[in-house]
Amino acid sequence: MSAGHRPLGILAALPQELGDLIEAMRAESGVRTVTHGQRDYHVGSVQGVSCVVTLARVGKVAAAATVSALIHAFDVEAVVFTGVAGGVGADVRVGDIVVADALMQHDLDASPLFPRFEVPLLGISRFAADPALADRLAAACARFVADEGVASAARFGTREPRVHRGLIVSGDQFVASAAAVAALREALPEALAVEMEGAAIAQVCYEYGVPCAVVRTISDTADDHAPVSFVSFLTEIAGAYSNGILKRFLAR
Ligand code: SAH
Repeated sequence: MSAGHRPLGILAALPQELGDLIEAMRAESGVRTVTHGQRDYHVGSVQGVSCVVTLARVGKVAAAATVSALIHAFDVEAVVFTGVAGGVGADVRVGDIVVADALMQHDLDASPLFPRFEVPLLGISRFAADPALADRLAAACARFVADEGVASAARFGTREPRVHRGLIVSGDQFVASAAAVAALREALPEALAVEMEGAAIAQVCYEYGVPCAVVRTISDTADDHAPVSFVSFLTEIAGAYSNGILKRFLAR
């Protein structure tokens, strides 16, 4: 992935989740910004890797539309999504990191016509992340935790971050009650984290044969404290995690 090759698509939902990535690109290569469908796509390179960086905004439709444009208008070679999520797995805490092995839409239900969670007419409910890309992302997370985990825990008042791998579930709801997160755990006991974009990106990437990977830092535990925890994590911490992870992911 060097200049001249197909670029890597990097996206997040919200600006805080990108950290200083666009500034880093501006400093290194300059940035060309192209607008499609009310979104700005920033084209340039970071650490010698040609990239297209953009914000999807929130929800599955927004995410699917944005990743489609990355594929059609920019011919990205692969897609990486970075952002925050609610922790659902028993041992997944605020400040931990989850790298998806698979993603599914927890709010998709065309039963009894199709099994619950299955994407109608596609016949799939779980979309795999690209194993090699997910391995590289998890390795970058592990290096970030080894280098900065202790300092980050002290600075942000979390435990030393743990890196989890497994199922991330997505839906068009901000999950924010003990009852809602309990229902999610019961329906999908393997789910480690809940968010609002990842499975939509994974579906579109599957349909186009583009490798994708998703990394999520846990901002809340999808319970009654989630709105407060989410906002403070997003404003104070999310950017530091993204910077620490993406810098190591992009380094050759
Ligand atoms: N405009 C709001 C929207 C945030 S929605 C704001 O900026 O404050 C929450 C975002 O964080 C989504 O992009 C979603 O992917 C992720 N997220 C974090 N915690 C979540 C939770 N408990 N449930 C669902 N999504 C969550």
